[in-house]
Amino acid sequence: MPELPEVETIRRQTEKYLKGQIVSDIKIFNSKSFTGDLKSTTNQKITGVKRYGKMLVINLENDYCLGIHLKMSGQLIYQKTREYKDKHTRVIIEFKSGDVLIFNDQRKFGWIRVFNKTDIKELSYVKNLGPEPWDIKDSDFFNKLQKKNKPIKTVLTDQDVISGVGNIYANDALWEAGINPRRSAKSLSKKEAMRLREVLMKVLEEGIRLGGSTGKDKKYIDFEGNSGRYLEKSRVYERDKQRCRRNDGGIINKIKIGGRGTYYCPVCQK
Ligand SMILES: [Zn+2]
Repeated sequence: MPELPEVETIRRQTEKYLKGQIVSDIKIFNSKSFTGDLKSTTNQKITGVKRYGKMLVINLENDYCLGIHLKMSGQLIYQKTREYKDKHTRVIIEFKSGDVLIFNDQRKFGWIRVFNKTDIKELSYVKNLGPEPWDIKDSDFFNKLQKKNKPIKTVLTDQDVISGVGNIYANDALWEAGINPRRSAKSLSKKEAMRLREVLMKVLEEGIRLGGSTGKDKKYIDFEGNSGRYLEKSRVYERDKQRCRRNDGGIINKIKIGGRGTYYCPVCQK
């Protein structure tokens, strides 16, 4: 599933390629993948692309915008040709320039919706988003953790404390901070919480810089059709039975916390 760095990578590329393009037509191949009034999008120029959590919002010059959620397996691909379509193509947005934006989605949980711009901030999805690690003060982060008696790993991926941290980057940030993923969130000292917020930003920024993470399922590819390279550098994620990158004699252990694969080094994560 795409996490924040993957969606942010796509947002930056979408903005680079689509800003200024004029929508000429939208072709829908699966009715559940697109909802909203097509007429409010045609002949509209794209003015920018925003991100709310993992939802992308393509702003049009009128009162409307296109919200896009990739969910489990959605992909946005940009092409200079109209020939492209495969068996997972659900929607194709065509532009006056001849370029197209293709929405592929194998599992069909993703969607594109036409929204009125003023409605976006009222969506419960947007209202319930917690701040991202960049947007929260150390003291607020620490106070939020103090109220949680669940494993820190689970709390990091709960979107109500901070948003944007999925399984891959939560695992790696805890290794970077030297914190055992099983510890309860409220057991962290203020110093540990500060360090954790700092390394969360570090691994997420690295994820964005490396174009995100593409797992073995190859589901995530970016806008230009490239795989993300983050997993080649992951600290602990999917590195079970391998040596800790700190060369401390630890072997990366894989356990389950809250049903999710959790990786850690028993030597340096206390
Ligand atoms: Zn270690």
